[in-house]
Amino acid sequence: MKVSIQDFQNKETGYTQEHDIDGMHIEIMRIEEGVNVFVQNIEAKVDAQCDKCLKKYKHHVRVSEAERIFYFKKPPHYDMEADQADIFMADMKHQEIDLTEMLRQEILLHFPTSQVCSKSCKGLCLKCGADLNERTCGCDTSDTSQKLLSGLRDLIR
Ligand SMILES: [Zn+2]
Ligand SMILES: [Zn+2]
Repeated sequence: MKVSIQDFQNKETGYTQEHDIDGMHIEIMRIEEGVNVFVQNIEAKVDAQCDKCLKKYKHHVRVSEAERIFYFKKPPHYDMEADQADIFMADMKHQEIDLTEMLRQEILLHFPTSQVCSKSCKGLCLKCGADLNERTCGCDTSDTSQKLLSGLRDLIR
C-alpha cells in the first residue's frame, strides 16, 4: 500500500497530512529524518488453521494503532550487513512510502499463538476423529480411564 509523500520534502518539521484508506486512519508528519507514520484501526483477515478442529478459517486481526519512521536518508545507525527489517526507507525516487511491510509486521505481532475458529468450537472426537461441530459420533470418551482400569483388573486376576 503506497502513499505519496510528494509534498513533504520541502516542508518544515511538524507538517502533517492525513489519509483515510481501507478503513484505516493514517497520519504522516514531517520530522527531521523523514516522516513519522501513525496508523490507526488496522484490520486484516489472515489464513489460519483451528487448533481444535483443524479446519482452515480466516482469523480476524485488529491492531488499534502503530507508529513507524520512514527515513529519507539511511540513518547513521543503519547497518547494511544486519537484517534491519525494522528500519523503513521512503522511496525518494517515486516520492512515496510503502506501508505494506509495516502493516504486515504489525499484524504478525498481534497474531495469537493459539488459533481457534470460534470460542464454541467443539474440536475433534479423540476416539474416531469426527468433527464434533458437524455431528455427534456417539463415542463415549468419558469411559477411557474406566476401561483401562477394568482391563488392568482382568490382567491381575
Ligand atoms: Zn475449530
Ligand atoms: Zn467419535
